Amino acid sequence: MHSYWGKCLIIDLTAQKSEVRELPQSLLRNYLGGVGLGTRLLLEWAKPGTDALSPDNPLIFASSGLAGTMAPASGNHAVVTKSPLSGFVSDSVSSGHWSLSLKRAGYDAVVITGAASSPVYVFVDNEIVHFHKADHLIGQGSFQTAEAIRKHTGDDRVQVASIGPGGENMVRYACINDSYCRATRGGAGAVMGSKRLKAIAIRGTRAISAYDLRGVERASIDLYARAQAETASGHKNPRTPDNLLPINRLDALPTRNFQQSSFEQANITEEYLAANHLVKIIACPTCPAACEHLYQVVDGGPEVALDYESLAALGPLCGIDSVPAILKAVELCQFHGMDTVSTGNSIAWAMESFEKGLLTKEDTQGINLSFGNPEALVAIVESIGKRNGIGNLLAEGTKRASAKLGRGSERWAMHSKGLELAGYDPRTMKSRALRFAVGLEIQSNDCFHCGDEDIHSSSSTSLSNQEREDTAAVSNSLMICGLIHSCFSDFLSEAAHLYTLATGIHISPAELKQAGERINNLKKTLNIREGWRRSDDWLPPRLFKDPITSGKAKGAVLSDKELQAMIEGYYQSRGWTIEGLIPTVKLKALGMDDILEMAKGSWHGASLHTV
Ligand code: SF4
Repeated sequence: MHSYWGKCLIIDLTAQKSEVRELPQSLLRNYLGGVGLGTRLLLEWAKPGTDALSPDNPLIFASSGLAGTMAPASGNHAVVTKSPLSGFVSDSVSSGHWSLSLKRAGYDAVVITGAASSPVYVFVDNEIVHFHKADHLIGQGSFQTAEAIRKHTGDDRVQVASIGPGGENMVRYACINDSYCRATRGGAGAVMGSKRLKAIAIRGTRAISAYDLRGVERASIDLYARAQAETASGHKNPRTPDNLLPINRLDALPTRNFQQSSFEQANITEEYLAANHLVKIIACPTCPAACEHLYQVVDGGPEVALDYESLAALGPLCGIDSVPAILKAVELCQFHGMDTVSTGNSIAWAMESFEKGLLTKEDTQGINLSFGNPEALVAIVESIGKRNGIGNLLAEGTKRASAKLGRGSERWAMHSKGLELAGYDPRTMKSRALRFAVGLEIQSNDCFHCGDEDIHSSSSTSLSNQEREDTAAVSNSLMICGLIHSCFSDFLSEAAHLYTLATGIHISPAELKQAGERINNLKKTLNIREGWRRSDDWLPPRLFKDPITSGKAKGAVLSDKELQAMIEGYYQSRGWTIEGLIPTVKLKALGMDDILEMAKGSWHGASLHTV
């Protein structure tokens, strides 16, 4: 096999043993790699009904058939597991050098099972797997952890994916960091913490072959040239903080926990950040776009990656306009290894609960947790990472925290299926309503352009949502970063061509599109197995009952009939039943007979609907 190894490393932390299993070519072709391969392995390795934080929940890392080639922005890896926030599939994508090391070590994926009895880190040194004690790394952030491990292994090139104190403390939205890159959303870091696995370090030194090396080079160079032309023409990367003001102007910027959709103090511009805090802009491996903007709160301090979603969640969502406070909060999230979107949402929920008198200074250890208080923001992020005081409640995420506090606070807990909403108000950006409600794709790492077509309209969103999800599934499985899609004139055709050149496995654009559909049906199948019900595809009550209180969008709410119609249209476009279940014929049409076979055995979750 070219470009793939056809090998999966299985690491059992309980027994401290490892083995290598074959990955058949048919499985790799059907599920591509990354999110697709990771989800397929999750279905196989996670028993139905497994608790997300139990040793039985596998933690899966997967690269793709393009990793290690010149294909642009293809050096990412996916982390797939059962989410401690939602109980459904969690897939997140990181974009550092770790994936390349995994590939060069000779594996397409790693499945981590069980749990160690005390903190460990695993060092995968090509074919040899070492288990090392990690007590001395407890309490360290990812940079300190990586440095210590490199020192211990005596090799600066070792790549390290690790958790911070947030993951160790099983903050339900903890992430896994490698350098500035993070598998952010869904809580994979908490799963890693529950296994007492501080880090997984990899040294990979093998050469990766391509079926048609010259062909991959030619196609990649052409894409690089297009990316550079786009940058030269002033095209801005969709995730930069510079999107804050356009989204504010569109009345789609969630403010003070979604009470408003525009922030009167929104004045953070790229020019201001560049003049006062920007240190450098970096790129992930093989990426011509370079979107990672690194900032410092103060000269000489830690460098932090800031994107639009982090700025929105720790800024306007909490009523904060102080850039140093927002950067400090992001810095603390980076150190503790926590998703900025869920952290910001949890704090915003607590701020509203405080202002409404449901939480008092007694609950907050004397902190005035009002919206707009920058000191409170910074203090609470720290307390979440350590699970101190009120931080212990907020570390559970808004769904569980509001269920515990009760007294109506569920109404302003802004999550869908337990995963907190990213920085776009679905009352004014209605296509987001459907995306957040049905939620098969990663919420933040996708292509977003501030276009009028995304605003105040629900027409055609059902079909386009299915197409977008399927394209995102292809992208997140081939591991081509979604943020460079605009460099492709026809993404599916060019991606299929690259895949064929790299792997020697011929795939047509239509087959690639179908692979995206298959991957999304697989995710849904797994969610159904884990107890998904039609009522789970919905949004928080605030969006239907609490009109936006100020700005041009004052009075706007979401209509439940409108969302219902969008969801039904979406199910129909997917070929699912009106209840959102998957007919057997659909799985057969997608070549998923093996999944139907698995559903017959020990599968004791909801059965797949048959029509
Ligand atoms: S566009 Fe940004 S996130 Fe994507 S691969 Fe390039 S640098 Fe990394």
